[in-house]
Amino acid sequence: MKVGIVGAGMVGSSAGYALAMLGIVSDIVLVDRNAALALAQAEDISHAVPFVSATTVIAGDYADLTGAGVVILAAGVSQKPGETRLELLERNAAVFRDVVGEVLRVAPDAILLIASNPVDIMTQVATRLSGLPPQRVIGSGTILDSARFRSLIGRHLGISPQSVHAYVLGEHGDSEVLGWSNARAGSVSLQSFAEQIGSPLTDDVRQSIDEGVRNAAYKIINGKGATYYGIGAGLARIVKAIAQDQRDVLSVSIVTPHIVDVEDVALSVPRIVGADGVVADLIPELEASEHTALGRSAALLKERVESIKF
Ligand code: ADP
Repeated sequence: MKVGIVGAGMVGSSAGYALAMLGIVSDIVLVDRNAALALAQAEDISHAVPFVSATTVIAGDYADLTGAGVVILAAGVSQKPGETRLELLERNAAVFRDVVGEVLRVAPDAILLIASNPVDIMTQVATRLSGLPPQRVIGSGTILDSARFRSLIGRHLGISPQSVHAYVLGEHGDSEVLGWSNARAGSVSLQSFAEQIGSPLTDDVRQSIDEGVRNAAYKIINGKGATYYGIGAGLARIVKAIAQDQRDVLSVSIVTPHIVDVEDVALSVPRIVGADGVVADLIPELEASEHTALGRSAALLKERVESIKF
């Protein structure tokens, strides 16, 4: 499969690197309005390839995306001094208007994988601009938050994150909801697992995991200005599910017809991801407080997306 990446900044190039390291696609094409940057990233990544895989990595323009099965959209502009969040959002929506049109012209059958932030809003923007079915316009959503959640639970229980089944729901951002009540380790409820091994999930432990998940990005941004390796690997993981038709259950964002009391809003719940994009949504059974929090997150996203012009 050929994978296009539009936006060869830190996130786009990290996704390209992670994909090249997985060695699961034949071609990666990097496109950026800064052609010199795309070329430099493609060359740098292609020098890593001989150590692990046979993926071809090139820089190109939109025409080179012809035949791509997945196109990752990681293009964006950063905040200007004095610019409001809303103005920034509208400028990013304008970038997407150009980019989505160019991509669909040459790769009308591609699944769009949205990485630009705020990812839920940009996913909804891309869905509307493209006219594609929502199942084919997938935002990375809370894939990384869920990975952090599983990793911190696994660390507390002394097991691998792969043996923990837990998802972060709603917005990829401050209103996200950690799905504690239905989280499992192996096939056992978290509470029971934790008691059986003598490491109970006290309020303090939960609080510290909650903060670890919510504040992870802020801590990284404080230290190095941006986050990219984690999301790059998360994007590569979604591409793998599509390229190999794995039908993995991943928490990703698509426009969802109905969630709690909100209609047509992009947010994350666990979904089955395969060759055709999102195959099915899995709406988890939640405790009352989690249900309310998910409704609040959905309403907030809906309000935000309706406030921008695009
Ligand atoms: P991030 O950390 O999210 O990757 P960057 O600023 O490093 O942010 O990367 C965003 C990239 O998107 C930049 O390389 C920029 O040149 C690119 N970009 C912005 N607008 C467009 C556009 N209209 N078409 C293609 N690429 C774009």
